[in-house]
Amino acid sequence: MRPENKTKDIMLRMRNAGVVGTDKLSVPTYVKLSSKADLVIANGAESEPLLHSEKSLLHEKPELIIDGIKIAMEATGAPKAVIAVRSSEKERMRSLYSLLKEEKNIDIFYLEDFYPSGDEPILVYEVTKKLIPEGKTPLDKGIVVEKLLSFAWMYQGYHGKPVTERPISVVGEVQRPQVTWFPIGTLYKDILNFAGGTTVDLKNAVVFDGGPLQGEVVKDLNIGIGKNTSAVMVLPKDHKVSKVKMKNLEEMILQNQGVSGDSSMMEDLCPRYQLGYDIHPSEVIKSLHFPLMMKPSSLRSAYSCNDCSLCEYMGSSTLNESPRLIYNEFKKNLARQEKKVSLKSGEKVNKVRLNYHYNKVSCSHLIKQVQVEKYDSFNRSILPKTNPQKVRVPVTRHKGTPAKPVVVEGQTLKMGDVIAFSPPGELGTTYHASIPGRVSEINDHWVEIIKGRNS
Ligand code: SF4
Repeated sequence: MRPENKTKDIMLRMRNAGVVGTDKLSVPTYVKLSSKADLVIANGAESEPLLHSEKSLLHEKPELIIDGIKIAMEATGAPKAVIAVRSSEKERMRSLYSLLKEEKNIDIFYLEDFYPSGDEPILVYEVTKKLIPEGKTPLDKGIVVEKLLSFAWMYQGYHGKPVTERPISVVGEVQRPQVTWFPIGTLYKDILNFAGGTTVDLKNAVVFDGGPLQGEVVKDLNIGIGKNTSAVMVLPKDHKVSKVKMKNLEEMILQNQGVSGDSSMMEDLCPRYQLGYDIHPSEVIKSLHFPLMMKPSSLRSAYSCNDCSLCEYMGSSTLNESPRLIYNEFKKNLARQEKKVSLKSGEKVNKVRLNYHYNKVSCSHLIKQVQVEKYDSFNRSILPKTNPQKVRVPVTRHKGTPAKPVVVEGQTLKMGDVIAFSPPGELGTTYHASIPGRVSEINDHWVEIIKGRNS
């Protein structure tokens, strides 16, 4: 039994502390803690190449994560929790083992070493053998899934410490690749400077927020990192990853004037198709040339695409076919039209396809395929927090209503002061000063704070 008042208290603390998911969607964590659950899964897969911040956190501060898990169990009434990590991390988990001896209700689960093993429906299937129907979330099956860093934030948030920093992997063409704690809102250009600068001229490079599969091109280096920035990665402009990620839908259509025979591989490699979802990336590519062939289910299946990018790197030898870009466009259009596409047919229990296990893409193969293996050898211990002179704390990078600034220009702030929050009663979160200083600029996207002598 979970006492209602306790759950409400935990939810409020999470919202006030600004605890959110650390994936792209960045769903406020209190939402996940509002439901009753049977199981909590701490997602430690971090299977995308070059990303190491969450795995290193588990290695270095397992107690923070375990204490956060206990808070999630208390809020949801879940009697059991599992920490899921890839089997390749077994060696590094010694300190975790000794802590877990004291925790009878928290187990460790070793995932196979494949990408994207941390995708929520895939993770839930791997751990429980339960399938999440299309259009549903693990919560609908009584399972709370959250990444490791969010559990650490849960513990800190519960005890009144807001989210103001996170570990980030700074990788690729930088002088000193590293994993370091950065205040939220540190400018991308400052992060590159902290890593000793880039090894290629920035004119010939692309900077990414995130890793080679799910990262996004950073168009302005004067913007601040978000709570969901797992990595800052620099690659040469002519690198395979840059070519794929810099392409937009129009360019992809222009370059893809013939129907490639390769498309059939896309289903084999699409992890959501293999999990049994009604998603057909090769059909959506063919519909570029034969729009009348487009079925209503193609539109609906956009919601099943998890943005993993496997189809474009490995399903297409030409790198010219991207179902991911098409699905993203569908999603944007549907959101613009506020059109709700019925997921009814997908709500039936799906069945894992026969080749699910055989078609998994191993992490060791993937890192070679995306040609980033040479960037993966560096010390993964998390370096102490840096001290930038300026931050631009983004106030819109979460699911829900953007946070409204509640400070004025010139105002002096202490570390951790509230600077913006979403309207109470609406889905959203809270943001805090990540360095002490003075508010120097406020706009719809960020609150800028400059470190001050008197602060
Ligand atoms: S990005 Fe491609 S491979 Fe990944 S889920 Fe979407 S369609 Fe499937």
